[in-house]
Amino acid sequence: MEKKQIDWENLGFGYVQTEQRYVSNYKDGKWDEGGLTEDAGVVLNECAGVLQYAQTVFEGMKAYTTEDGKIVVFRPDLNAARMADSARRLEMPVFPEERFLEAVKEVVKANAAYVPPYGSGATLYIRPYMFGSNPVIGVKPADEYQFRVFVTPVGPYFKGGVKPLTLCVSDFDRAAPHGTGHIKAGLNYAMSLHAIVTAHANGYDENMYLDSATRTKVEETGGANFIFVTKDNKVVTPHSDTILPSITRRSLLYVAEHYLGLEVEERDVYLDEVKEFAECGLCGTAAVISPVGKIVDHGKEICFPSGMEKMGPTIQKLYDTLTGIQMGQIEAPKGWIQVIE
Ligand SMILES: *Cc1c(COP(=O)(O)O)cnc(C)c1O
Repeated sequence: MEKKQIDWENLGFGYVQTEQRYVSNYKDGKWDEGGLTEDAGVVLNECAGVLQYAQTVFEGMKAYTTEDGKIVVFRPDLNAARMADSARRLEMPVFPEERFLEAVKEVVKANAAYVPPYGSGATLYIRPYMFGSNPVIGVKPADEYQFRVFVTPVGPYFKGGVKPLTLCVSDFDRAAPHGTGHIKAGLNYAMSLHAIVTAHANGYDENMYLDSATRTKVEETGGANFIFVTKDNKVVTPHSDTILPSITRRSLLYVAEHYLGLEVEERDVYLDEVKEFAECGLCGTAAVISPVGKIVDHGKEICFPSGMEKMGPTIQKLYDTLTGIQMGQIEAPKGWIQVIE
């Protein structure tokens, strides 16, 4: 298969239209057969549920080429399960998990020419999502839904080397107790836009959100979970019902424990103790881990010993091991790597 002529190394994180996407519609209580289409457009009634009351959920994962030339996807079964959880919370019909996996496979296969070559640092980002599609004006769940999967090639996350981030402790809240912080829904992002635009305007890369009930505990950023390393090399991550259960974070904890022999803790992490940590990183599909160099809490600076030039040593090891597993250089735990072709 001939790859597309794309300058992979210089691709950004933007939408590039590819040839095929998957669509299935839900009507009269069931999902139709579904299938691939070349039509990238979505035509909806002006009163569609998603447009009025934001009834939509999504997922994000990546396909890439391994060292031995296979196209693979990392733990898509966890994305399928998480999307089912998200759908249930927003009163949407679950798109069956095995069909989700099949749809992802079909779309990646059909767009194999867009999967960046091994070593380019670029990947094929996969975006499954679903939304209420029929007219809804009185507030209630839609009766009809559309499930779609499209893919778009994205460039290497750290272009020209890793740069530790500077965060600010946000005065805005991301998620309410017993709210929707634990599901992957567009509504959580819509309301975070003002907070991130404000943070950028003030010179920060990201927001650190605290738990909104007590504003004493670390939750996450707008789109990535925290991972901390203590001075005695324990890996610590916040436990909370209102953070999104990152698949990258769960995988990193496994790697820390089973590949690197480190102690791991999932527990309440208080803002007050953050200054005691040796390293800090943000984890998510996009970057795997982005190191954090500094966190600013209303003028008070917390500077991690790992500094503003590079990743700390433990976070670097976690990053190297997980990306090594993903790229097929290190043996993966059973079931983590799904071979597409
Ligand atoms: C998607 C997402 C993450 C990262 O999850 P991964 O499964 O690792 O990509 C973290 N936080 C939020 C709010 C997210 O939406």
